[in-house]
Amino acid sequence: MLGSRESRHASDTPPSRVRHVVGVGPTGRFMAKILIVEDEKDLQQVLEYNLRQAGHQVLMAHAGGHGLELARAEHPDLVLLDLMLPDISGTEVCKALKESADTRTIPVVMLTARGEEIDRVVGFELGADDYVVKPFSVRELILRIAAVLRRGRGALEEGQRVVEFGRLRIDREAHKVWVDELEIELTALEFKLLVTLYDRRNRVQTRTSLLDDVWGIQADITTRTVDTHVKRLREKLEAARDYVETVRGVGYRFVASPAEAGQ
Ligand code: CA
Repeated sequence: MLGSRESRHASDTPPSRVRHVVGVGPTGRFMAKILIVEDEKDLQQVLEYNLRQAGHQVLMAHAGGHGLELARAEHPDLVLLDLMLPDISGTEVCKALKESADTRTIPVVMLTARGEEIDRVVGFELGADDYVVKPFSVRELILRIAAVLRRGRGALEEGQRVVEFGRLRIDREAHKVWVDELEIELTALEFKLLVTLYDRRNRVQTRTSLLDDVWGIQADITTRTVDTHVKRLREKLEAARDYVETVRGVGYRFVASPAEAGQ
């Protein structure tokens, strides 16, 4: 069990069956980018280790303010949020995340200690997606996280299976893309790159974050690879090519509206 005094040496690694449930790809690609906001050092380490073992990419904040900054800058797929933090409380962090259009859709799983029942309710009122009570087992937490991530993905597919943006239409499920009603052929990787950029419209994506999110970490790939693929993607997009903008020295950005690309 974690989060209790006697648990500091816990290494509750999930069995391989559980890892399979959360779906680590055979190439070791990240399943999800998870931000941990937790000030207890022992707990940080155990959470970080086990989430990495489960195939996730982990970001770490030791205080609420830093957690908020990281959430805004990195757009994690999920935030694991401790309630008692040294600066601002977890409820305040959750409230701020859920109030901002930019971070509202990021699921939040709260970590609470026993005796924080009232705060727990408040957590839900503030829009937290789930909670676990300390002490908890890592296995339980990993499964909860997987469930919250699955729910999020399900909602995304339901709500936005086919998206239209100016001259562009994307069918996420069929992996098809049309420009001006004409279907264009994209590789699986180009498709993932396009959807990743599209989902983060109006936000600059660094080459490094695209590498992490589209390719996953692979030793033989450099940020130059991102440039090559974006170039090829833009060529294929033809009339819709200006939806993907180069931000010199930083990375790429999908425009906020078709009008912004002069359409
Ligand atoms: Ca704490």
